[in-house]
Amino acid sequence: MSARIIDGNAVSRKIRSDCAERVARLRAERNVTPSLAVIIVGDDQASRIYVRNKMKAAEDVGVISRLHDFAADADPDLVLHLIDRLNDDPLVHGILVQLPLPPQFNIYSVLHRIHPRKDVDGFHLYNVGGLVVGRTVFSPCTPYGVMKLLQHVGIEVAGQNAVIVGASNIVGKPMALMLMQQEATVAICHARTRDLAQFTILADILVVAAGVPGLIVPQMVKSGAVVIDVGINRLPSGKIVGDVDFEGVRGKASYITPVPGGVGPMTVTMLISNTILSAEQASAAPALDDPFARADIPLEQI
Ligand code: NAD
Repeated sequence: MSARIIDGNAVSRKIRSDCAERVARLRAERNVTPSLAVIIVGDDQASRIYVRNKMKAAEDVGVISRLHDFAADADPDLVLHLIDRLNDDPLVHGILVQLPLPPQFNIYSVLHRIHPRKDVDGFHLYNVGGLVVGRTVFSPCTPYGVMKLLQHVGIEVAGQNAVIVGASNIVGKPMALMLMQQEATVAICHARTRDLAQFTILADILVVAAGVPGLIVPQMVKSGAVVIDVGINRLPSGKIVGDVDFEGVRGKASYITPVPGGVGPMTVTMLISNTILSAEQASAAPALDDPFARADIPLEQI
């Protein structure tokens, strides 16, 4: 068997074209242009490339993006005050803080300062909690992108054995919750899991997000499994690879994502989609049962 390759760039193009139509509709019908505020602190080169990609993708579909750039030794209070101002600004629909932050920052106090209605990365505790009960406002972009890829290729999730390798707050854990929400039977593995292969071999859907190149080899994969590789690793040669032995595993899987060109573009795409969703919600007539549609209700009363 040779796996079919899930082309994240092609799926992204399709969703981004839908995004452009949603932006055009918002402009025409409500006179609203979605806008994303991006905060970056320090000189991490990879972070700067990610931010540039996100802002370009936003602008390509008509979403305004504004960069707020702080030096590595910035006072955290300045960033928190900026977030307060952006929370109060009705022209800003999404706020993104690029991680990692320098050591003087408490990441959680920064992420939780963003109003859940503008938390387009889906990292605020309200959105994380919403994920647990299936009522999140904004899903975290990487696992959300994986769900869209599965949907795009018509994978039925309900009843499947899904195994996730990696249990981080931004990928592994929310991925597990989203798959469980769609009625998969889910196992989560991590660095302390004993005998990883005994879990991965059971997976109908295997999502790998460990950050370890070559971690998943063909013997660990069930014949016909759908293999989603979230990992992004730069080898000493400069080559970018995922966590899965792509050439080996593609001989065994039914579907597989490449790295690059699989999950990566979807992460950016879902960020843009979430920002547009925020603008759609902010400009819609308030729904009585949706506290987030009511900008006048303070967060602490939600
Ligand atoms: P992380 O370091 O926060 O978490 C890694 C997880 O993998 C941990 O739970 C750890 O216990 C587990 N792990 C590590 N080694 C393992 C091993 N040998 N066996 C089993 N589990 C192991 O990383 P993260 O932020 O979740 O990112 C994971 C990978 O995904 C990285 O390569 C990262 O670059 C990539 N990533 C890609 C995207 C994208 O858009 N494609 C987005 C976010 C992260």
